[in-house]
Amino acid sequence: MAANPLDNIRVVLVGTLYTGNVGSSCRAMANMGIRHLRLAAPNLQNSWEEGERLAVHATDILAAREEFPSLEAAVADCVAVVGTTAREGLYRQHVKAPRDCASDLLSVAATGPVALVFGREDKGLLNEEIAQCTHLVRIPVDEGYTSLNLSQAVLLTCYELFAASGRYVPPREKAPPAPQAQKAQLNKNWAAMLREIGFMKEEQSDHFMQGFQRVFSRGVVTKDDAALMLGVARQAVWAAKNHA
Ligand code: SAH
Repeated sequence: MAANPLDNIRVVLVGTLYTGNVGSSCRAMANMGIRHLRLAAPNLQNSWEEGERLAVHATDILAAREEFPSLEAAVADCVAVVGTTAREGLYRQHVKAPRDCASDLLSVAATGPVALVFGREDKGLLNEEIAQCTHLVRIPVDEGYTSLNLSQAVLLTCYELFAASGRYVPPREKAPPAPQAQKAQLNKNWAAMLREIGFMKEEQSDHFMQGFQRVFSRGVVTKDDAALMLGVARQAVWAAKNHA
């Protein structure tokens, strides 16, 4: 059982033509906490200089890549083989969006290696390679241009697994929410201040304060927010009295 199922993801690039796409894929993988790259029957047309440049801070993933003569060899130890395709059609009717299968794939990855398989820049995956896949995913795209750049397809697929893994914890509001008494005080002090500075008359208070209350109650008002707004009211009253 892998403690972190993302450690069991293998990104498998099949017949890749350009080292730049391999390098950009390494960067995308590192961004998404996925670190194992395999090249199956690479068909590289240019030097690794470009690949290393585009990997930026993920050259360790590039350096640790494993190479295999075929897709079959590259996925031999995997318990699931997820093909990615821009196309629908023959053999591809059961495609899912990565988001819709990410949790299931992570559950499988908790038990053994899972391959995410990406095809050639020019021809994608061949039918006999699609036939080796246990799952197929297609990233939702505009029908006007369905084929993504290889490394961008790697990024979006890895992103969905990363997002589903729950490893990213969004920043939380640190200040506690304002209690009702503080909100009432805020309302009262603002009403007094708004009259003091001549913004509204006594008989208009109900009307205007309903408006201000709406503003104050948008979203969660924290204690710090309320303290700040109370400070504004206090200063405005002081200024109105002293500069009148
Ligand atoms: N011309 C090829 C596309 C190659 S793009 C074709 O028509 O199949 C290179 C690789 O990026 C594809 O083999 C696939 O692995 C991935 N890819 C591109 N667009 C994708 C999409 N919309 N959904 C899933 N994978 C995609």
